[in-house]
Amino acid sequence: MPNKIRHLVIVLGDQLDLESGALDDFDVARDRVWMAEVPQEATHVWSHKARIALFLSAMRHHRKALERQGRVVEYHHLGGHSYLGLQDALRDSIRSLQPEQLVIVHPGDHRVLDAIRSLAQETGVALDVRPDRHFLIDMPEFEDWARKRKLLRLEDFYRFMRSRTGILMEDGRPRGGVWNFDRENRKTFGKRGPGAIPAPRSFATDDRTLEVLLEVERRYPDHPGSLANFDWPVTREQAEQALADFIEHRLPAFGPYQDAMWTDEPFLYHSRLASSLNLKLLSARRVIDAALEALDEGHAPLASVEGFIRQVLGWREFVRGLYWMQMPEYLKRNALAADRPLPAFYWTGETDMQCLRQTITQTLEFGYAHHIQRLMVTGLFALLLGVRPHNVHEWYLAVYIDAVEWVELPNTLGMSQYADGGLIASKPYVASGKYIQRMSNYCSQCPYNPAHATEGDACPFTTLYWDFLLRHHKRFADHPRAALQWRSLERIDTNKRRAIRRKAEALKQALAPSETETPRSTHHG
Ligand code: FAD
Ligand code: SF4
Repeated sequence: MPNKIRHLVIVLGDQLDLESGALDDFDVARDRVWMAEVPQEATHVWSHKARIALFLSAMRHHRKALERQGRVVEYHHLGGHSYLGLQDALRDSIRSLQPEQLVIVHPGDHRVLDAIRSLAQETGVALDVRPDRHFLIDMPEFEDWARKRKLLRLEDFYRFMRSRTGILMEDGRPRGGVWNFDRENRKTFGKRGPGAIPAPRSFATDDRTLEVLLEVERRYPDHPGSLANFDWPVTREQAEQALADFIEHRLPAFGPYQDAMWTDEPFLYHSRLASSLNLKLLSARRVIDAALEALDEGHAPLASVEGFIRQVLGWREFVRGLYWMQMPEYLKRNALAADRPLPAFYWTGETDMQCLRQTITQTLEFGYAHHIQRLMVTGLFALLLGVRPHNVHEWYLAVYIDAVEWVELPNTLGMSQYADGGLIASKPYVASGKYIQRMSNYCSQCPYNPAHATEGDACPFTTLYWDFLLRHHKRFADHPRAALQWRSLERIDTNKRRAIRRKAEALKQALAPSETETPRSTHHG
């Protein structure tokens, strides 16, 4: 009879960290790592092929790295079993291996933590859930910070994190004398465009990744997105190389141009590191230290380094804290009672609106769009149109290479759709087409005019922007942060208001997808 297993150490697809707390006291003689590829993780939203491939390839590479360290891995390949979800696969392993205890680092998703807790209860096996050291603040500390405040605001949290960690601080004061460089960091590329930007480092597919790409194509032929450009880091070494490449070539200009957009330039000066961070191939601290080093060596200016660190030390940790404080109710929030379906073109890119076509097409090609494209193009359009936040959430969770729920959901439901009623964003991020015109060259190649709201060539963003202000006038007219924006309605007379509402209604009718046109808009399994 084989020796009884002491710890069954569960490693999830977004926990690919060789220094994970779950491995701290790993005993190669008595413990075993457990990993499983299950269909439900690929299909609970209609996942982009590249997103599925990234998880599978990175998991298979991680398994090999664990085995090289002498650890035994109980690994369930997608094709080697008939389990649907993690729970089914784990239940069977518990039955056959009879471990004394399950060990896991705190999962990123509420749904997964729930499933593992309930399975431990059902099988009567002890469960040890360990804190995730990847993050710079633990949940109890975050909750403590949050409990002391009436309003939870990023700026406040970010300053707290800077002071607490000493990052970008000198003698208790912010380095450079100010906390942020937002004013310097909103540059556009002007008429001449961005010029030549060094292409981000790409990673050739090895045999293991090639096998995954073929498998994904075979198993999920109807899923959105393309695998033709798949070049994402799938190992810790590759993630390190991607980080070095960003620091060397793009970090110096990251700050000023982080909000700018340009036709056929999907990456600009962005890092493309979110997928490596979220799979834990890279630690947040490692990424921050690399940026600080570039600052100390005079390679990158403070405005860029601060702009970058704000995203990782500020936003990323902030949304994680809020996610865990608000779940599971957060998933249902719909403060503006938005009730329209997601337009079908979100899954195809087939629209004559150039900004949306560019953003969605590159999303399908690469599984990537940068923050302002997500927030102020696809997100803004869905918000102005009044799309059900849950459908918007399912789209974002499906189509981005870096999409994991704990970071995607607060960004989508909270920051982009204002569905949490102002928990994350102090006011709705709404703008007319003129914002997109200022920050990009998209409008110069579009049949619509961002200055027009009711004319024949009216920009749909601009029509829907005024319609949004009219529809939500009551709610925001006296709002401390939004009232100024709503006051602009005073310039619009009754006839113009009627024309806007008529035009917006016609747009909404034209954009409402029929059942057959909507590829997937709800969960399926
Ligand atoms: P960069 O622009 O180079 O930024 C550097 C890093 O900062 C990112 O890699 C990321 O780790 C972090 N970061 C930047 N902005 C944010 C933010 N708002 N919240 C948390 N971390 C941030 N990010 C995800 O990682 N996964 C998601 O599923 C996701 N969904 C989003 C959905 C919407 C509607 C919006 C508006 C934003 C979303 N973001 C998400 C945040 C952000 O857009 C991405 O992190 C970023 O675009 C990834 O590209 P990058 O690695 O080149 O980032
Ligand atoms: Fe987008 Fe309107 Fe500009 Fe066209 S005119 S690119 S729809 S903002």
